Amino acid sequence: MPGFALAPDQLEWCGELRVLAGARLRPLADKGEPGRVNRPLVEALGEHGLLARLFGSGALDLCLLRESLAYACTGAETALALQGLGAHPVAAYGTPAQRERWLPEVTAGRAVAAFALSEPDAGSDAAALRLDAGQDKGGWRLTGEKCWISNAPGADFYTVFARTTPDAGARGVTAFLVPADRPGLSGTPLDLLAPHAIGSLAFDGVPVGPDDVLGERDRGFRVAMNTLNLFRPSVGAFAVGMAQAALDATLAHTAHRTAFGGPLKDLQTVAHRVADMATRTEAARLLVYAAAEAYDRGDAGIARGSAMAKLFATEAAQYVVDAAVQLHGARALQRGHLLEHLYREVRAPRIYEGASEVQRTIIAKELYR
Ligand SMILES: Cc1cc2nc3c(=O)[nH]c(=O)nc-3n(C[C@H](O)[C@H](O)[C@H](O)COP(=O)(O)OP(=O)(O)OC[C@H]3O[C@@H](n4cnc5c(N)ncnc54)[C@H](O)[C@@H]3O)c2cc1C
Repeated sequence: MPGFALAPDQLEWCGELRVLAGARLRPLADKGEPGRVNRPLVEALGEHGLLARLFGSGALDLCLLRESLAYACTGAETALALQGLGAHPVAAYGTPAQRERWLPEVTAGRAVAAFALSEPDAGSDAAALRLDAGQDKGGWRLTGEKCWISNAPGADFYTVFARTTPDAGARGVTAFLVPADRPGLSGTPLDLLAPHAIGSLAFDGVPVGPDDVLGERDRGFRVAMNTLNLFRPSVGAFAVGMAQAALDATLAHTAHRTAFGGPLKDLQTVAHRVADMATRTEAARLLVYAAAEAYDRGDAGIARGSAMAKLFATEAAQYVVDAAVQLHGARALQRGHLLEHLYREVRAPRIYEGASEVQRTIIAKELYR
């Protein structure tokens, strides 16, 4: 198969996912409480077998899932992605007992997962994290704070990155699987521009033991970075799905809306803008698929390709959604309009899982290596 062309069965699957997202998942997403975990939606993702595709199917599958769901229902896309982000460390680094306890529940949509890396003073510079894992009777006690944690405080367990060795930067971090009912763990929801389930977590001497470690002691930063390497192209896929939805809405609108004696599409500036929107969307899609395929093949230079895909696709989607708003005029800004929704949704992916500037730094570092 030539690079970047999807096989007929993949294209068919994407079509089915879009229909499923629009017909079955969006009604559930619409009923959810903004900013809170939507359990019926997560359960539906499990019942339709989508969560089971998160583990072991590869980066390209993940991208196709995210792009297709995002096209018709960003809420379903995000709920799916967060299950993956929170539980991938368990799938990739968990002990048999940890995997048996949590993965069937995650894939069934009965347990909600979260990935807790960021802190008030450690965002882009994640290696500066300070959540303290102080030694205590053969285990540790976690003390400190995490913030901007998707699915918090409503998740059932958290992959938590904590400092086991002080002053050791990225080398002194351990990943722990922390069930939400551990004593001393509490959380507060945060209210964001887009209706994203997110909150902060407070750790007041939360006990964890050797059985809760994911991977090896002091090697947790690798767990975080390897998880992000897999998910980065798929953040790009999320962006491509949103861009395609905005582009299709714009094509329909500009073909029918009349002004100055004809449809908007007959104005050359409008048609050229739409051509730019389509070109950037397609370029983003190709970069995303290329990065995902490279990840699945185990190629060298994965970090650069993943960073390029995430950077280009999220920036392209911002451009496309903004242009779509412009070409729709006032109606795009009305609460409840698809573009009003996408305009709010499209902003955050340029910040999370490595801001655009951080992606540029990764790319440049690889180029000068
Ligand atoms: C919707 C949403 C969901 C999130 N979900 C999670 C989650 O589930 N788990 C989790 O752990 N975190 C999550 N986060 C947090 C996210 O990962 C951080 O916001 C991100 O890493 C940036 O950190 P910060 O916000 O502290 O910004 P800062 O690190 O303070 O950076 C602010 C800005 O400074 C600039 N900047 C930073 N570093 C550089 C650099 N090296 N070079 C040039 N410019 C730079 C960039 O413009 C950047 O946007 C989420 C955030 C959002 C918005």
